[in-house]
Amino acid sequence: MKAIVYNNPWDIRIEEKEEPAIILPDEVIVEIRATGICGTDLSIISGEYLARPQVIIGHESAGVIVEKGKGVDNCNVGDRVIIDPTYYCGYCDNCRKGLRNHCLLKSTTEAGVSIDGTFTRYFKTTQRFIYGLHDNIPFEQGAMSEPLSCVLTAVKKLAVTPFMRTAILGGGPIGLLFYMALKQHGIREGVIYETSKNRIKLIEQNNVLSKGWQIAPEFIPQKNQYDLIIDTTGSLLEKSMLAIADGGKISLMGLRNNQQTINPREIADRSISIIGSIDSQDTFKHAVDLINSGRLELEKIITNGYSLNDFTTAVKDLGCDVGTRQRNNNISSLKSFISIT
Ligand SMILES: [Zn+2]
Ligand SMILES: [Zn+2]
Repeated sequence: MKAIVYNNPWDIRIEEKEEPAIILPDEVIVEIRATGICGTDLSIISGEYLARPQVIIGHESAGVIVEKGKGVDNCNVGDRVIIDPTYYCGYCDNCRKGLRNHCLLKSTTEAGVSIDGTFTRYFKTTQRFIYGLHDNIPFEQGAMSEPLSCVLTAVKKLAVTPFMRTAILGGGPIGLLFYMALKQHGIREGVIYETSKNRIKLIEQNNVLSKGWQIAPEFIPQKNQYDLIIDTTGSLLEKSMLAIADGGKISLMGLRNNQQTINPREIADRSISIIGSIDSQDTFKHAVDLINSGRLELEKIITNGYSLNDFTTAVKDLGCDVGTRQRNNNISSLKSFISIT
């Protein structure tokens, strides 16, 4: 089967890989129909996120069950399904403490990073990681369960309340999913800050934001401006500290190496919470339910679809240029998908 394979930073190729086969009784094989291109994929390509050479990348997926082991009893061949790609063992110290998103085996079991992922036709997993996708919901939307569940985990930790004055830093897919999740939690007003003019245009053109929410190009912090700041860029903590109100909460979810200077005294003196979150913890089912409900309007942010053969064009349209080996702000898509037909 054809697959997108990572070799080294900026060296990704379409290669022929062997199809997976059922070995254990709880395994299923999913024929992938759609896989989302995630910021993690772009960071793997550019060498900012470490992946195993020769691995098939891709992890946000939905498809159809084509084969199952003898012990599988939660799905049938032909079922439309969503895959939870984040493996956890259930028995390491972190899993037993309820920190399955920090499973100690994660570094060797991450689909699309350290084990083969889903930018290909077939993917093997176990019945633990399969959820049903409703017939009326497109595979692309189903595949957004993974990033949405990560966002829901962060929102859960933030314990938000409806009248928090809210800013989301970054209007990419994660920022927009935060917008959707916060709206579900009753936050009806807020500002999304986004520096890419193209992204702003797409958000406006597609009517993504409901009344009460705005998009703005530059985050210029003012004192006591927000009760809740969601930094999806991972590089705006200093500015966030200038804008956060007493008792406010700052959420960090972007994985970007950089140094920021903040005064710890201020965090204590002004009762500020800085809350980090990665991957999903007990929210995947909630994400699937929300997507199956069809009420998120995900179609407004899923703007671009490509075939496996057009993968380099797809990532170029997200500002990740394999030709020049550079990341840039030339982004002509909100959420992009590779569809496999
Ligand atoms: Zn992802
Ligand atoms: Zn574990």
